[in-house]
This record gives sequence, C-alpha cells and structure tokens, in this order.
Amino acid sequence: MNPKLLESIEEREKELVELLSTLVSFQTPSPPARNTNEAQEYIASYLKEIGYTVDKWDVYPNDPNVVGTLKGTDSDNYHSLILNGHIDVASIEENEPWNSPPFQAVVKENTIYGRGVADMKGGMAACLFALKLLHENGIRLKGDVILQSVIGEEVGEAGTKQCCDRGYKADFAIVADTSHCAIQGQGGVITGWVTVKSPQTHHDGTRRQMIHAGGGIHGASAIEKMAKLITGLQELERHWAVTKTYPGFPAGMNTINPAVIEGGRHAAFIADECSLWITVHFYPNESYESVTKEIEEHLLAVATADPWLREHPPLFRWGGTSMIEERGEVFPSLALDRDWPGLQLLTHVHEEVFEERAEISMSSTVTDGGWLGDAGIPTVIYGPGKLEHAHAVNEQLSIDELITYTKTLVQFIYEWCNSKKEEG
Ligand SMILES: [Zn+2]
Repeated sequence: MNPKLLESIEEREKELVELLSTLVSFQTPSPPARNTNEAQEYIASYLKEIGYTVDKWDVYPNDPNVVGTLKGTDSDNYHSLILNGHIDVASIEENEPWNSPPFQAVVKENTIYGRGVADMKGGMAACLFALKLLHENGIRLKGDVILQSVIGEEVGEAGTKQCCDRGYKADFAIVADTSHCAIQGQGGVITGWVTVKSPQTHHDGTRRQMIHAGGGIHGASAIEKMAKLITGLQELERHWAVTKTYPGFPAGMNTINPAVIEGGRHAAFIADECSLWITVHFYPNESYESVTKEIEEHLLAVATADPWLREHPPLFRWGGTSMIEERGEVFPSLALDRDWPGLQLLTHVHEEVFEERAEISMSSTVTDGGWLGDAGIPTVIYGPGKLEHAHAVNEQLSIDELITYTKTLVQFIYEWCNSKKEEG
C-alpha cells in the first residue's frame, strides 16, 4: 500500500471531523430509541457510494440495522473482516450542564465534543472513512469486508445478535466501541428478576396472626422474604469474589447488584408480591446459563431453610432482548485468544502506527462483542475514546486519537483482507 495513503488521513482531518459531526447531528439517544432510521439511511448511502451492497432491515420500527458488504476478489482464500458499531447513543437527561448543545459537535483545542463522539460515533466515523479511503485509492481487497451499523446496544437490544442470526460471519471482527485503542475482551452481563409471590393477599390487620404465637395464619410478607433472599445473594456474591478470578480483571468484578426492587400494593395490605431486578457480571470463562443456574440453586437452598419460602419458592426470569421492551438484557462474555491471527496482526499494526505497545486487556464494561464471539467469530473490542467520557456530560474525543486510530484501521484492513486464510 502506498504510504502516502496513511499520510493523507492527516490532510483530510477536516473531512473526518465533518463526518463525525454529521453522525452526531442525528439524534439517536436510547432510551427513548426508535429514532435511528435517518442516521442509518445516511450510512447506507455512504456505503453504496463506495461500492458496498447494503442490507437494511427493521429490528424495531424506525430502528433498522444496516450491513454493507464488499466482496473481495478472492473471498474463498483470503481473510474476511467484520467492522461492527452501534449507532445509538446514551440518553441525555434534562438540565445536564453541557457547554454546548450535545447534538451539535464542537471542536476545541483538538478535541471534539458531542453526544456519542466517544461511544461510539467516533469509531463508526473512523470505520466509514477508512473504507472510503481504500475505495478512493482504487484498492481492491482480496477478502470480504462487512460493515455492521447496528441499533440498540445501549439498552441491550439485539441489533448485533440479529446480524449474527442472519448469517453474517467473518474470519475476524473488530467492534469499534470505546476502548481508548486498547485491544479488549469483556466479561458478560445478564439481568434477571427474582420474584416472591404469595398465593393469598392478607389485610394489614392480620399481621399479628402471621407473626405472633398462636396467630394461626401461615402467611408472609413478600418484602420480608425478599430481604432474606437479598442476604443470600450477598453471600453468594462474596463467595464468588473469593473463589473466582480471571486474568485481566480486578478480583471481585463478578458482582450481583440488587438494582431495583418493587413490591407491596398499599399500606393497608401485607405485601403479597415482591420482585428484585438484579444485574449479574460474570467472567469470560463462564456463561450466562451457568451463572444463572448457580444463583437459582443458591436461592432455592436459602428458600428451603425458611418454612414459608420452602412452600413458595422464588420465581426467576432471566435476560431479555431489550431494557425498554422487556426490562431485561444479556451481553455474552468475550474471551481473547492471543493465537488468533487477526489479534496478532492488529497488535502489530497498532504498534507500528501508534508507535507504542498495544494494550491487550479486559474491558470493565460490556459491548456487542459478546454476540459476535458467541457466534464463533474471533472478535476484539478496539475503538477510540475513553470510557470515562462515554455517557458523560460534555462527552469528548481527542482528534489525534481519532486520526491515528483511522490510520491503524486502514492499514489493518489492507493487510488482513489481503492475507491468506490459514490452512485447515
Ligand atoms: Zn458503546
């Protein structure tokens, strides 16, 4: 590849910043979501203009996925690549003290400000610009390139999962989400609802009979029984913290957070139902199936030690495909394998372009990378922007970082898609 191509990215900084500003100007906060069609239409035309075949479908009304594919000249024998990014951004609360309107990007001292610049319209702009540069320079890649612009990541909706279910596969995938250009895997997250439910509803006036000698009513407050289960969850959380570890994570990252509690109907009744919404973090060598099974077994054991809960064991509902529609989500974990050729090449190209050692680590948050990994695709999270700026007021991104990241992408795509698939 002509080295001038990488240098040209610096000269075209203005164009790249304009592209990012345009993406920011599409107001795609989630929640409320159902607002990405215009942005996705823009990305679809951008991809068509540079020769990509575009597949666009509604995941939810007014929230379509866009996948662009550029067939390589020798797809069967050369490496293919998925570039994945989400087009939705974190929501804005009223009265947040932004220095400038969040959906009008502003550049100050080589930093760009606006909702989504770090998470992750910066990464998306870099991907699109890299593909455009390769196209404009007449570079025909031998392997396929697939760009996925998905919806719903901020609220656990299945944008990326649908791409996988639709059959999109590649020899390597980069999720261009916020990692400050570290090459990362992730732990997983699953949310769940634990519910205690009484078959009878009792009046507040019967409480004496339920809790005192000779009262005669074998009943219970669902809220008080939930308190017992919460204590049980804390014990399990502590047990996990001291018995489980995974390289790249500080000890005790595998938390069980009692995030939301709902219960009782009115002060004149004994609470007949109580539900607890929990968030469970687990390590890359675990699955959401295995950790939810551990929690169920543990809470059922706690219930067995209680005369009322024994007969009215807690109910469980795990995961979900949307925090908005179902109040539930899953992000599978993503383990990294240092033997993956794609990871090795990306490390090499990063070190060459950034002139620094590549950091290979574990993200403290979750991304759609878990879904691609779950589909059997060697995947890394690798994107510009710092996590502390994601979702934050005055969200920002260094333009130098954006440019160097774009250079790395161009170089990586060129080398990866022109290298042969491994034998066997
Ligand atoms: Zn993100």
